[in-house]
Amino acid sequence: MDAFPASVLVFLGAYLLNVLYITVFYHRGLAHEAVILSPRMQRFVAKTGIWVTGIDAKAWVCMHRLHHRHSDTQKDPHSPVFAGVLGLFRKQLLAYRKVLVALIRRHDHYDKVVADLDLEVSAVNARKRWYLPYLSHLVMGVGLAWITGSAWIGAAFVLGISSHPLEGWAVNALAHSYGYRNYATDDNSQNNTWVAWLVAGEGYQNNHHRYPDEARFSHRWFEWDWGYQLCLVLSFCGVLRIARSTRT
Ligand SMILES: [Zn+2]
Ligand SMILES: [Zn+2]
Repeated sequence: MDAFPASVLVFLGAYLLNVLYITVFYHRGLAHEAVILSPRMQRFVAKTGIWVTGIDAKAWVCMHRLHHRHSDTQKDPHSPVFAGVLGLFRKQLLAYRKVLVALIRRHDHYDKVVADLDLEVSAVNARKRWYLPYLSHLVMGVGLAWITGSAWIGAAFVLGISSHPLEGWAVNALAHSYGYRNYATDDNSQNNTWVAWLVAGEGYQNNHHRYPDEARFSHRWFEWDWGYQLCLVLSFCGVLRIARSTRT
C-alpha cells in the first residue's frame, strides 16, 4: 500500500482508539454512568486508558465533573469565558495537572468528587512518571516508521493517538463559545456541529449539559452523534450496557 493512504488509515485508527476511550469509557461511562461498565471493565479502562490516551482516568473524570458542577463560572476548571478561546488550550492542561496532583495528595475536596469510583490514580502518575505514556507513543511511532519504511506512517500514529488535548480544546473552547442552543441552560454551552462531527458527538455540549446522564448527545433529527453509535456497537458486543439513551 502507498504510504499516503496507509498513513491516513493509521491516523484514523489511532484517533478512533483515543476517542473511544475518552468519549465512551471516560466520559459516558465513568464520569456520568450513562453507559455502565462492569467493575472489572472499569479497572481495565483505567489501567489501559493512561497508556492509550496519556490521560489519567480518575483525574479526567474528576476534572470533568467539576466542569459540570461549575460550568462557565470562575470555579470551572476550563471555561473559555475566562481563559479565552485560544488561552483555553493552556488552561485545560494546567487544570488537569492541578486535579491530578490534588488526587495524588489525597486532597479531600477532589477525592469527594470521585468517591464513588473504585479507582486509583494510575501508577505512572502516582510515581510522577506522567511522560512515560507519551514517550511510549513516540517509541511506537518510530517503530512503525522503521518497520514500514515511512516516516509519515509513524507520524500519523503519534498524531492520532496523542490527539486528546486538541479534541479537548475543540470541545471545551469552541463548543462553549460558538454554535446554537436547544436548551436555555445556565452555562454558555453550545451545540457546535463541526466539533460534534470531528469529536464523536462531543460538540453537542448544550444538549449534554442539559441532560448529562444520557448516553446519546444528539437530540434533533439533523444532529449526528457517532460516539453513541460506538456505544451501541460495544453494547451489542457485551462490553457495556446503555443505562439511558435519551429523553427526547
Ligand atoms: Zn461542557
Ligand atoms: Zn459530561
